[in-house]
Amino acid sequence: MASIREDYPEVLSIKSQFKFYDSETGRLTNTTDQRDINLDFYPHFNINCICWECVNGGHDLNMIIHTSIKERITDVTGSSICQGWQDRQRINRHRCNTRLEYFYSIEYID
Ligand SMILES: [Zn+2]
Repeated sequence: MASIREDYPEVLSIKSQFKFYDSETGRLTNTTDQRDINLDFYPHFNINCICWECVNGGHDLNMIIHTSIKERITDVTGSSICQGWQDRQRINRHRCNTRLEYFYSIEYID
């Protein structure tokens, strides 16, 4: 595992964008700008939970991204619910449940 470019020379570009939704109200709380992923690194597709108090949360998208690249999928969208704990006082009692919607746009070299 050196870099995306070395492992997947057919990939021309990967762009990512995220939307985060509040666990209780379901409201959209944050949208990131669309970002270009640097293919010369080996990015771990682990998205941090947006809640700063969240314990052991986050979203592991590695499997879906790698599978999508192998299948040459260009638009990878989906959602993931954070399975962390809402804060230190509520470990083992209350899950974070913040929802992430992810949008990856992958271009391939023919
Ligand atoms: Zn969380």
